Amino acid sequence: MERISADVAIIGAGPAGMFAVFECGMLKMSCVLIDALDELGGQCVALYPEKPIYDIPAHPGIEGGALIAKLEEQIAPFNCAKLLGRQVTGLSGAAGDFTLTTSAGDEVKAKAVILAAGAGAFGPNRPPLDGLEAYEASGAVRYYVKKREDLRGKRVVIAGGGDSAVDWALALQGIAASIAVVHRRPKFRAAPESTAQLDALAAESKVEMVIPYQLHALHGAGGALEAVEVADLDGATKHLPADVLLPFFGLAMELGPINDWGLGLEKSHVAVTPYNMQTSLPGVFAVGDICTYPGKLKLILQGFAEGAMAAHAIYPIVNPDTALHFEYSTTKGVPG
Ligand SMILES: Cc1cc2nc3c(=O)[nH]c(=O)nc-3n(C[C@H](O)[C@H](O)[C@H](O)COP(=O)(O)OP(=O)(O)OC[C@H]3O[C@@H](n4cnc5c(N)ncnc54)[C@H](O)[C@@H]3O)c2cc1C
Repeated sequence: MERISADVAIIGAGPAGMFAVFECGMLKMSCVLIDALDELGGQCVALYPEKPIYDIPAHPGIEGGALIAKLEEQIAPFNCAKLLGRQVTGLSGAAGDFTLTTSAGDEVKAKAVILAAGAGAFGPNRPPLDGLEAYEASGAVRYYVKKREDLRGKRVVIAGGGDSAVDWALALQGIAASIAVVHRRPKFRAAPESTAQLDALAAESKVEMVIPYQLHALHGAGGALEAVEVADLDGATKHLPADVLLPFFGLAMELGPINDWGLGLEKSHVAVTPYNMQTSLPGVFAVGDICTYPGKLKLILQGFAEGAMAAHAIYPIVNPDTALHFEYSTTKGVPG
């Protein structure tokens, strides 16, 4: 249970929240970074630590985990306080004097708040299959792949038609003993380039496309999976031999307490003024995946820029008597 005061409280330690620490730090504002997860990095670390991201400027390709390690290095000079493994449950007060409370009983005082909560406390959409819990507990059904190597030599069934399903079918090539992709319709909702790669692998019989089918049942004993039963649209079933099932049916967004903070949510997103990231509550700003405005793209690079805009907008709240003179980082440098 901590009692902490900082200029800015940042809720969410994904890439957007982490880079906001840097931008605030460059303007000499102290931060406290709070996250429900036990580690920094948000989706990049929790969902795709080993997958390369190709659209981070000046990084032609960088894995999710490596990007977060670099961000951690970049914010290290600012000695930001970190409260991990606790959810922010309460927000009260007004610009210049906010109080945040957490599930661990912490009390955080801050002059401004940056909400960088992504999709909130996220969790996977689970398939409605009998006996699922036993297979989840044994790791035979999993919604995240932390290390590709864990699946070496396994017969893997992937279910879903989005980016995660397609990307993991590609990423497990040469690692899994066999890969079958179950989808209920021929069209995938994934990047066209990735879908084309998947089609090419299917043509070479390196991936079995099980279409149009849906998950029907799991077969095995004691949590050890032996086969995934799938059914077509007429109810005809077949068994796919499997050690591991990876269902990728998207993430359930659970904003939880954030729903009650009077932010005027639009479909689980917080509307902001696009030039300064201000929400409808003065002194509360939102960046990254959680914010919305016309033209918003849910991209890490956009979350980075939003952190810079929010920090500059927050400066007068923290320093009401000092004018902010814009300076480049090359001029200012970073703390030693
Ligand atoms: C498989 C996959 C591939 C992707 N590939 C790319 C890509 O190539 N390029 C790209 O730009 N983007 C990509 N993305 C999207 C990118 O990961 C997100 O845009 C980015 O993570 C959003 O960052 P964020 O900091 O806004 O939120 P998140 O990364 O979602 O982090 C939000 C954090 O807030 C925490 N949180 C939420 N509510 C609370 C609370 N009440 N209290 C405490 N903590 C809370 C959560 O625990 C979480 O850690 C990909 C996403 C996925 C799933």
